[in-house]
Amino acid sequence: MSIHHLRSHVVPAPQPVTDPDRVVLSLEQSTWLRAHARGNDFLSSLDRQWVAKGYLSPKQVACVDRGMEEQDAPRSTPAPAPLTVPTARIEEIFGYAKSRGIKQPQMRLGDYKLKTASAFSANAGAIYVTLQDTYLGKIVGGRWIPTVPGYRHAQPLAELLADPTLAAIAYGERTGNCAICGRLLTAEESINRTIGPICAANYGLL
Ligand SMILES: [Zn+2]
Repeated sequence: MSIHHLRSHVVPAPQPVTDPDRVVLSLEQSTWLRAHARGNDFLSSLDRQWVAKGYLSPKQVACVDRGMEEQDAPRSTPAPAPLTVPTARIEEIFGYAKSRGIKQPQMRLGDYKLKTASAFSANAGAIYVTLQDTYLGKIVGGRWIPTVPGYRHAQPLAELLADPTLAAIAYGERTGNCAICGRLLTAEESINRTIGPICAANYGLL
């Protein structure tokens, strides 16, 4: 057997690495990468580079770590289960508003803002819930489907949704703004009602 023949079968051992831009994977990382490379162009490219060079860049290793963490995530933080919330009344109100030509009906209840998903979106029919511009989850078919931070808001939302009209009036009294459009109510409006008259008409809350 020639030297040349032998060499072609020797996998080069990774060289000791001191360059901070060259990171050697741990056994756990390389095993995970190999196991997930199949059918994933990005990971198989990383795996090929790892085998060829014996190191990856810090950014590439960060991608491996993130992949491993995301895979572990469902075990450490279970996805919140959908919860039943009373949505019949808000769906009735939003349905009425849609019949009056309001494309994406919305309402402020408590500190939350509820807004209907666009009819053209993948979530058509859903109601999005945000708190100070943070998305907490969506209501679909009477169920609250929260994000992880939205999970603990099921109870206050259920209470507000039990009587959205009452909650909208309370919002107007508390903030001086219309619970539907958010506009500051005029002094005269504030005396007579707590929802702007045009919004009240459009949403059937007269
Ligand atoms: Zn209004």
